[in-house]
Amino acid sequence: MPEQHVFEGGCLCGRVRFRASAEPEFPHLCSCSMCRRWSGAPTLAWVEFPLAAFEWTGEGGEPHFFRSSKKTLRGNCTECGSALCAIDDGYDRISITVGALDHPDQVVPDERHSFASARPDWWQPALKSD
Ligand SMILES: [Zn+2]
Ligand SMILES: [Zn+2]
Repeated sequence: MPEQHVFEGGCLCGRVRFRASAEPEFPHLCSCSMCRRWSGAPTLAWVEFPLAAFEWTGEGGEPHFFRSSKKTLRGNCTECGSALCAIDDGYDRISITVGALDHPDQVVPDERHSFASARPDWWQPALKSD
């Protein structure tokens, strides 16, 4: 029997927790200015899960959603501010920040690096660029 894929994570203060029970999809890096400003990090690692296999499990329920662009909501904990997720309107997947996973080694970003040229020059992730 294959091992069941369960991915759990949450925010820094622990109020917002999540669990995904599905194969991770589209693990990638993004260095766009929105990811950078939203998280404070030079590059974010993202992974997608089907919404149907995803649930918010912490006492804080869902994160606070901020509309960062016309079609995208980004979710943060209202207490500690952790950058947790993004959801596009009408899309059946949720993007989770790999850094919010309890075990970030569970997901390995592949060679896809969106907006790689927008990263600071001193920051050279080993993965290839877009
Ligand atoms: Zn929190
Ligand atoms: Zn981005």
